[in-house]
Amino acid sequence: MGVIREVSVCIGDPEKLRVIGKVDETLDEELLPLLARVLKGGFVKTQNFVTFRMGMSFITVYPDGHVGMTMVEDENEALKILEYVEEKIRYVKENGDKIRAKNTPVKVNVLEIYKLLPKTNCGMCGEKTCMAFALKLTTGSKELSECKPLMLEGKYIRQRESLISLLTSMGIDVYL
Ligand code: SF4
Repeated sequence: MGVIREVSVCIGDPEKLRVIGKVDETLDEELLPLLARVLKGGFVKTQNFVTFRMGMSFITVYPDGHVGMTMVEDENEALKILEYVEEKIRYVKENGDKIRAKNTPVKVNVLEIYKLLPKTNCGMCGEKTCMAFALKLTTGSKELSECKPLMLEGKYIRQRESLISLLTSMGIDVYL
């Protein structure tokens, strides 16, 4: 059963909570990409965590069972998320081979990436437009962290989390 370890105000929305919890189930690192697939989220290889979205909340799952949650309504919601994550970890541990067998290649969609960028064409990434930056993300010649407004401005927190999930689910590595 999941437990709540820490509660604070969410940076992206002061009316919501940022919660750190822990579930009993842990996961071998090699199973993290499978968990990402089951949760329809992304696996951030460089930092070894899985991220996914559930309703308004952005959730990060670590192999040792720690779970970070942002944009959470209250502690009850956080406990429900922990229960859900624990159930999915259990499922992945029991059905790893079945999930691997269902592996289907994901199409890279530049427009979907572009829609989640700030779309201000500020040029800080070295590209003239956000669309050009989106295209370079798909070829690996740019990294998401080069879009400073997206990384640093609180108003883009949801887009940032969604982009991490989207890119990793497309098989594009994210280095934060
Ligand atoms: S830094 Fe971000 S917002 Fe600015 S042009 Fe590049 S992708 Fe667009």
